[in-house]
Amino acid sequence: MGAYTIEDEGDFVVVGTGAGGATAARVLSAAGRSVVLLDEGPRLKTEDRPRALLGAMTSAFRDFGTTTTRGTSPFPLLQGRLVGGSTAINSGIIWRLPEDVRREWVERYGLSELADEAGLARAFDTIERELEITETSDEVLGNNAALMALAAEKLKLPGKVISRNAARCKGTAQCLQGCPGEARQSMDVSYIPRSLAAGARLHDQARVDRVLREGGRAVGVEGELVERGSEGRSRGRFKIRAKRGVIVAASAVQTPVLLRRSGLRGMVGERFQAHPGAAVVGRFKDPVGMGFGATQGYEVPLRDRFMKLESLSMPPEMLGARLPGAGPAWQERLGQLDHFAQWCVLVRMEAHGTVRPTLFGTGSDAAVSFTPTALDMRRLREGLTTLCRMMFAAGALEVYPGIAGLPPVLKDLSEVALVEGYDLKARHLNLMASHLFGSACAGKDPARSVVGEDLQAHALPGLYVMDSSVFPTNLGVNPQHSIMGVVYRAAERLAA
Ligand SMILES: Cc1cc2nc3c(=O)[nH]c(=O)nc-3n(C[C@H](O)[C@H](O)[C@H](O)COP(=O)(O)OP(=O)(O)OC[C@H]3O[C@@H](n4cnc5c(N)ncnc54)[C@H](O)[C@@H]3O)c2cc1C
Ligand code: SF4
Repeated sequence: MGAYTIEDEGDFVVVGTGAGGATAARVLSAAGRSVVLLDEGPRLKTEDRPRALLGAMTSAFRDFGTTTTRGTSPFPLLQGRLVGGSTAINSGIIWRLPEDVRREWVERYGLSELADEAGLARAFDTIERELEITETSDEVLGNNAALMALAAEKLKLPGKVISRNAARCKGTAQCLQGCPGEARQSMDVSYIPRSLAAGARLHDQARVDRVLREGGRAVGVEGELVERGSEGRSRGRFKIRAKRGVIVAASAVQTPVLLRRSGLRGMVGERFQAHPGAAVVGRFKDPVGMGFGATQGYEVPLRDRFMKLESLSMPPEMLGARLPGAGPAWQERLGQLDHFAQWCVLVRMEAHGTVRPTLFGTGSDAAVSFTPTALDMRRLREGLTTLCRMMFAAGALEVYPGIAGLPPVLKDLSEVALVEGYDLKARHLNLMASHLFGSACAGKDPARSVVGEDLQAHALPGLYVMDSSVFPTNLGVNPQHSIMGVVYRAAERLAA
């Protein structure tokens, strides 16, 4: 064996096995192209995935969920680091690319082919059939979601039951830990096994650190075989050659890091955008039982107000940490753990940030700068105010807004005015983001974008980016379906 522990070759090498990478592999392998898939994270069998939160986060989350933004008020960016990517830890919520976003991509960014209405609709139809997408049924809605539905009805808000890729959901509320019965069609149990059955090869725990070029073209990748459970220990190096193309789908954070490490510059890592959120907890007289129901079952999309409200069930360890009070007061609430509901607001932020590589071996490998604007914070405050009102409308005895500087417990509806009138800053909240976009955006003009309509890098033929980095704007909805739809079409064109 030479300098490499693993050497391999395919028509295409795909870096990352999440929503983007797995979809590209599914389409290319079905078209008879040979595909080599790589992921930095491990391939975990469903039965081996830890159910307790600590183990789940250690085994499946990038940096144990501690990757944070840099800026005046850092907040975590949650991402999966396992085969299946973030889809293997997500809630399965499905939204097609909103029509206003699609039109903006065509009219403002000239992406008429990428965002072609009929082409995208066809891709979404196929994906919805293949991934068993349907509305959450009444049987597994659960009380957390049902209470939100009640509140929406009372306050005349346009709520709806969430559509998910989990038709056979049993309501275990464990999506974060991986679906125990493989009902949720995340990539690790759907498009990855289908690609492998069609002839694709997968190397897990293989972190790509460079795209290789020859004669001005991308011709493969090389990197480190990393040991499971360790962020850095090496089991050797690998090199994969690609006869037709290198597809990078490592996420809106990791993709620009890899491109920059491979010598690409210009707009790489610019225009990073996010759809972050914060949660409100309410305590009810009767048991809510967050441990039963689809992890997320009900939503109130308020598109014209740039926000989306969602029910969000949590593992008890996380919920316990969210309860206010200390000593006996906290213990008393802990004893009532079954009586809480939790809902969150996500804001389609206008802020733009940047992503840059850090030095290897210095913790997280990406430095993400992102600071919400004053308008983003006003929208967030409006969303939190609405959630507090909804909690009381549904009958909450007390509400925990989770805002530093305000009383931790609101006792009745009149106290919601405190939230509404607060000069809310990002540092007052436990913000979190997992919907990330735009750091290698698509466009016609090479001076203002990284890839063209075919998702091929302007600066390096043979290199394709197929994840949410290419989205020129923030969607304001849960992104996995849009990523899959856009990639599905681009991969079909590439296969042809
Ligand atoms: C907790 C959580 C809940 C969510 N809930 C929903 C939801 O309900 N609905 C929804 O639409 N969206 C949801 N999302 C977001 C959604 O999962 C992501 O937007 C989507 O998975 C992103 O797809 P991607 O292909 O860009 O990246 P990912 O799915 O994150 O996949 C990237 C993959 O690349 C690998 N990788 C990164 N760098 C390298 C490298 N250098 N070498 C090799 N491999 C590498 C990673 O290990 C990872 O497996 C959620 C996300 C999280 C974290
Ligand atoms: S709630 Fe439970 S059964 Fe339903 S999709 Fe999530 S993990 Fe699977």
